[in-house]
Amino acid sequence: MQVNRRDFMKVSGAGVVGLSMLQLGVDVRPVRAYADTLKIEGAREVVTICPFCSVSCHVISHVKDGKLVSTEGDPDYPINQGALCAKGASMLSMTRNEHRLTKPRAAPGGRKRAGIGPWNRLPSASKRYATRT
Ligand code: SF4
Repeated sequence: MQVNRRDFMKVSGAGVVGLSMLQLGVDVRPVRAYADTLKIEGAREVVTICPFCSVSCHVISHVKDGKLVSTEGDPDYPINQGALCAKGASMLSMTRNEHRLTKPRAAPGGRKRAGIGPWNRLPSASKRYATRT
């Protein structure tokens, strides 16, 4: 019988995980379930739709003190059945990442010069509207 490298790694990995769990006698599922509830304890549950594409996967989000604290796929929705792709799974960081843009910006000189130099911060929409009227 010939065993290739891929099969060897599969069998070895499964064996190591299985043996370590058996030897330790630890069932981590209750601990993980408890840890998951900590971050959403007291949070309001809101079912929403992922904004990134037309598949429109359902997302269960939790809001605590006015801030989004958790997002996960909706297991009851037949389209995504609890799963989210990488974009959908990044929804939480989209609201929290300190590097995200929070104000509208525009490239000086318009679209043709977009890759050149820093982008200028635009005045708020209300200020732009006020100057037009
Ligand atoms: S989770 Fe992914 S596939 Fe689903 S709507 Fe969002 S971007 Fe589209």
